[in-house]
Amino acid sequence: MVASSVLGFPRQGVLRDLKKATEAYWAGKISQSDLLAEGKRLRLAHWKIMKDAGVDIIPSNDFAYYDHVLDHIQLFNAIPDRYSKHGLDTIDQYFAMGRGHQKDGIDVPSLEMVKWFDSNYHYVKPTFQDNQTFKLADDPKPVRHFLEAKEAGITTRPVILGPVSFLHLGKADRGQSVQPIDLLDKLLPVYVELLEALKKAGVEDVQIDEPILVFDLPPKVKEAFKPAYEKLSGDFLPRLLLATYFGDIVHNLDVLPSIQHLYGLHIDLVRNPEQLESIVSQLGPQQILSAGVVDGRNIWKTNFKRAIEIVESTIQKVGKERVIVATSSSLLHVPHTLDSEKKLDPEVKDWFAFAVQKVSEVVVIAKAVTEGPAAVREELEANAKSMAARASSKRTNNQSVKDRLAKVNDEMHNRQSPFPERHSQQKEHLKLPTFPTTTIGSFPQTSEIRIQRNKFTKGEITEEEYNKFIENEIDQVIKIQDELDLDVYVHGEPERNDMVQYFGERLDGYVFTTHAWVQSYGSRCVRPPIIVGDISRPAPMTVKESKYAASKSKKPMKGMLTGPITCLRWSFPRDDIHQSVQAQQLALALRDEVVDLESAGIYVIQVDEPALREGLPLRTGRERENYLSWAVDAFKLATSGVKDSTQIHSHFCYSEFQDFFHAIAALDADVLSIENSKSDAKLLQVFVDTAYPRHIGPGVYDIHSPRVPSEQEMKDRVAEMRRYLRPDQLWINPDCGLKTRQWKETKEALTNMVNAAKFYREKT
Ligand code: GLN
Ligand code: ZN
Repeated sequence: MVASSVLGFPRQGVLRDLKKATEAYWAGKISQSDLLAEGKRLRLAHWKIMKDAGVDIIPSNDFAYYDHVLDHIQLFNAIPDRYSKHGLDTIDQYFAMGRGHQKDGIDVPSLEMVKWFDSNYHYVKPTFQDNQTFKLADDPKPVRHFLEAKEAGITTRPVILGPVSFLHLGKADRGQSVQPIDLLDKLLPVYVELLEALKKAGVEDVQIDEPILVFDLPPKVKEAFKPAYEKLSGDFLPRLLLATYFGDIVHNLDVLPSIQHLYGLHIDLVRNPEQLESIVSQLGPQQILSAGVVDGRNIWKTNFKRAIEIVESTIQKVGKERVIVATSSSLLHVPHTLDSEKKLDPEVKDWFAFAVQKVSEVVVIAKAVTEGPAAVREELEANAKSMAARASSKRTNNQSVKDRLAKVNDEMHNRQSPFPERHSQQKEHLKLPTFPTTTIGSFPQTSEIRIQRNKFTKGEITEEEYNKFIENEIDQVIKIQDELDLDVYVHGEPERNDMVQYFGERLDGYVFTTHAWVQSYGSRCVRPPIIVGDISRPAPMTVKESKYAASKSKKPMKGMLTGPITCLRWSFPRDDIHQSVQAQQLALALRDEVVDLESAGIYVIQVDEPALREGLPLRTGRERENYLSWAVDAFKLATSGVKDSTQIHSHFCYSEFQDFFHAIAALDADVLSIENSKSDAKLLQVFVDTAYPRHIGPGVYDIHSPRVPSEQEMKDRVAEMRRYLRPDQLWINPDCGLKTRQWKETKEALTNMVNAAKFYREKT
């Protein structure tokens, strides 16, 4: 029999129940026991969903109140002193590490939080001391949750993060110099102890995640796997199924321990089906292969035919008894259930599967290969029908989009002239002073703006009333910029709910959900738009507001767009055409917008691409270069339709470009604004080293804090930047958009910023 298996289930519940409970607990509105009871209710509900669906291997310990890596930090007592010394109870100490604690005389910031591989989930980074020790927590959570499920009549396979990944995903604490991987010998006994406790509780198999195997690893980390897993094996311990996901592991196969030490291996066959051959050839004669064929990262229905083919070919190679059908990764990255979507067009709803639906898919596939297709004929037929409908839908076959794509040529990717020529025309045209000042686009999104937007969405005010309100907001923002005496204005983006959603709602090819939330970090969830079909722009999206703003201002007005890669990355993309094609479609739509803005008298246009870096493939090398090449092309396609005298800006919320600076340079944007106030001005050295010719505005102050830096502080910051950048190259702007700020601090900070710019302007 081929077993079905799920690697992890989303934690939030049907309607973000966990978010609500944790936030209520933080606000002191519910007690700790209420919170724990809610956690238990959710775990039981999720186990039951999987059990009722007929899943053979159900995960436990995938649930976390904040983050599963943080769970392990506490599980192994890798808790920095600053959190343990206050005598906080277990759960408060846990949240203190996750989100900081500022109460009752305790004031401690959170541990660092970083992206989980290339997903939009963020984990809490383990943070180690030079004299780090580890100790298994009392009443360890993996054991507790296994028993909790068992008591409810459900046998589970606990999920734990493997020791090599746990260390490698961590870092030395501030002021410490330990290399995390050097702590392995100290950590392994604790893993053994945990596994023993699990075995004692009745656990047969454990899913041990080592996702870092998809990376290019330093030799020391690679070499850690064999000895580690030799120590973690033995008859007195549960069998280990080592799970990898989000990439292929072929380049690291040689580091895996020999078969007698590993019961099985899980690989992601959605992302990298081609790795199957190499993996199978390396498997020992008894080793199990868990085939991840149901996508844990996207919302599409699984193509049963294709998935079954992959599983069948695995079976042919290793035999039925050694294959498990599984989700490609944990389902953490998909929304809970499609059943909550009452407003989705039935046509596209039929193409989707969220976590609850994917659970059933795993079961159907396992049944199909175990008992033969006849056993699930109805499901297979319905699936084939749905696949065919999607493939032939008008949404996925927009002929005019295809025709346009076919006509894209090299010329369309390049501005008319090289930068020096453009620059002299722009200078003439825009008449900007040296050290020009600007902002990144948004001004404070006040509660009044949100109230009016809500009223408009609910139909409580008319479109005309809402437009009037927006115009009024724009008037205010322009008046304030006049007072501040900025050089390049923005309209303030009051009409935008979110920088991707706003465009998605105005493009054909996108759909939106009502409850399809996925956890981003802690209690924070996002609801990404979904690209369902070919993208096109039925009408201008931003011209009305920008044109209105330009008509009211004496200074150049900067138009503001979200770039193709950011639109793509912050959505659920299609899985039936390559992402580069989706980026190209988005680019063509944005290109029209850029050209329309120019025709409407907007001669400075900023195309934001903050998500460019997070799209970087996990490994360096060919895959990364491919991505950068099509991503850069998309940006250039979007922005190259304008005259030389029109100035193209782009914005990035970071300044760590070292790994891929050639791509940033290749964008050929006339002006880049980047984060720099929280990072080191030294990062600007890359512009010097590469003799970067174009203009740069490294953020002179941090917009994430209400703090108002003094004029002197900004002058000092600019002085530092001048060590790296030519005076004619330097723009003066904040780090990022101001939408999360209040007006008071915004005006004060911008006043100081403009004064700092003027100070240097007068000196040159
Ligand atoms: N133009 C956007 C704004 O100002 C940019 C936001 C971002 O970089 N994340 O809000
Ligand atoms: Zn930004």
